[in-house]
Amino acid sequence: MEENNIASAGNFIEKIIDEDIKNNINNGRIVTRFPPEPNGYLHIGHAKSICLNFGLAEKYNGTCHLRFDDTNPAKEEMEYIRSIKEDIKWLGFDWKKHEYYASDYFDKLYEIAVKLIKEGKAYVDSLGPEEIREYRGTLTSPGKNSPDRDRSVEENLDLFEKMKNGEFEDGKYLLRAKIDMSSPNLNMRDPALYRIKRMSHHRTGDNWCIYPMYDFTHPLSDAFEEITHSVCTLEFEDHRPLYNWSVDESGVPSKPRQIEFARLNLNYTIMSKRKLLTLVEKGYVSGWDDPRMPTISGIRRRGYTPESLRDFASRIGVAKSNSTVDFALLEHCLREDLNVKAKRVMAVLDPLKVIITNYPEGKTEMLEADNNPEDESMGKREIPFSRKIYIEKDDFMENPPKKYFRLSPGKEIRLKHAYYVTCTDVIKDPDTEEIIEVHCTYDPESRGGWTEDGRKVRGTSHWVSAAHAFEADVRLYSHLFTSENPEEATGNFLDDIAQDSLEVLKGCKLEPSLLKAVPGESFQFLRKGYFCADSVYSNPGAPVFNRTVSMRDTWAKLQKAAAKKM
Ligand code: ATP
Ligand code: MG
Repeated sequence: MEENNIASAGNFIEKIIDEDIKNNINNGRIVTRFPPEPNGYLHIGHAKSICLNFGLAEKYNGTCHLRFDDTNPAKEEMEYIRSIKEDIKWLGFDWKKHEYYASDYFDKLYEIAVKLIKEGKAYVDSLGPEEIREYRGTLTSPGKNSPDRDRSVEENLDLFEKMKNGEFEDGKYLLRAKIDMSSPNLNMRDPALYRIKRMSHHRTGDNWCIYPMYDFTHPLSDAFEEITHSVCTLEFEDHRPLYNWSVDESGVPSKPRQIEFARLNLNYTIMSKRKLLTLVEKGYVSGWDDPRMPTISGIRRRGYTPESLRDFASRIGVAKSNSTVDFALLEHCLREDLNVKAKRVMAVLDPLKVIITNYPEGKTEMLEADNNPEDESMGKREIPFSRKIYIEKDDFMENPPKKYFRLSPGKEIRLKHAYYVTCTDVIKDPDTEEIIEVHCTYDPESRGGWTEDGRKVRGTSHWVSAAHAFEADVRLYSHLFTSENPEEATGNFLDDIAQDSLEVLKGCKLEPSLLKAVPGESFQFLRKGYFCADSVYSNPGAPVFNRTVSMRDTWAKLQKAAAKKM
């Protein structure tokens, strides 16, 4: 019964694993891996893969390896390794002692290559890249054998050894698998196994002048580590026959089972490390951790929580066909999490001075505010109130239309946690006619924001006391791209970059408790959205805030509208 329950729950990958367990494949052992190439920072798509692989290991009491597929010395750096580890930990996963590097297998891979040569299953080819392309054929026409294909085993061994010893310049020779130049699968048309690259590797230094290709290294690394289920994205489906060939011919007993799933695509977002690197290198963003970047470090700095990402990953699930997920869903998951976690505070982003004329000069009183009405255990704090305060400019209108419930001449509103106030006067700059100050009176009987006579006011504004507030920069972000599918329309993602995705608000007035905000700490600025103290620009006692996400939940709205239609 229990077994049935497990089998009927879960996604298609879990169903495959359940089946394998039932058939006692690998004696029920489950080992997955997350195999990044350390050539960039991780992005939200990787987060999906991390949640999936580590999640499977957790669910089945198995193990998940972290393996760096570091076969390309030209593009890989220690900095990327550091950041990848930091990001996975931040997401809440632990590879424990299982940290591996494909480069640790270079000796073993070399031995396997030699074995393949000896068995006549690999040869050294002198064709250049142009010719290789020409000989490969196309999807509709078969390829041609290279003139070097029948080189003798002795000669191949000799040349391969010389390649290894650095006797040839880059590109002079390739080691290729001898499979089938007429295979309908282009990956099987004598793919390259090793290339000459006389370049230092970030881990093996100058030990090697030849490096194994990804398609040879990856499946064998999985096999060396006795990975049971090698989960990867759909584009590797066509590589599976080559992976199986490599493992079968290598003589390594372990046979990892490859399962492909659809990669995550998000609208308004690019998720290719190469393109993200371009944004960094060309200065479109301030770095990999720019809060507009879809990198894990970028959205962390922006104020996203690991819980919201994990929730997002589980809601989108895994599928067999590619689709694009609405960014609004990610934001929805974030709001749901921050709603219960973030302290409610008051911050005035575009200040308008208000004088409460019947409030004593020089007086300050402390008013009580709950930190989060969703969670009493988050306690209360005191906020100072005085004669001169700030409210948002757009919370006041001199000549309001009907149904305007905020402050306007003669109207009464509530100041959150404070008093009812009524506007009595508007003071303007005599030259520019700009409103510079609004005068109000307050009702001393309305302390805390309610009155015994039960009189109702429609509008509530947030505010800060002018004498106690401090000034800070607040940084607002919007999508980096103007198009839902960057590149689709223009052919070049750089042409779709939004010009105004960062707006820095200067001189915002924040309640004094925010002075103690620590970098990364999240708050709800009442009515304005969720914000967090920036981890790069903030200084002790001088925080700078990022808007993480606005209050408007377009996803929830869409869901409601859809439910109504049904
Ligand atoms: P990119 O195309 O961004 O450079 P990649 O696939 O080359 O990504 P890797 O470092 O090879 O990057 O990826 C590590 C793992 O993350 C792989 O198993 C890959 O399938 C997975 N992955 C990468 N992008 C996504 C995505 N958008 N959705 C889900 N999984 C992804
Ligand atoms: Mg890759």
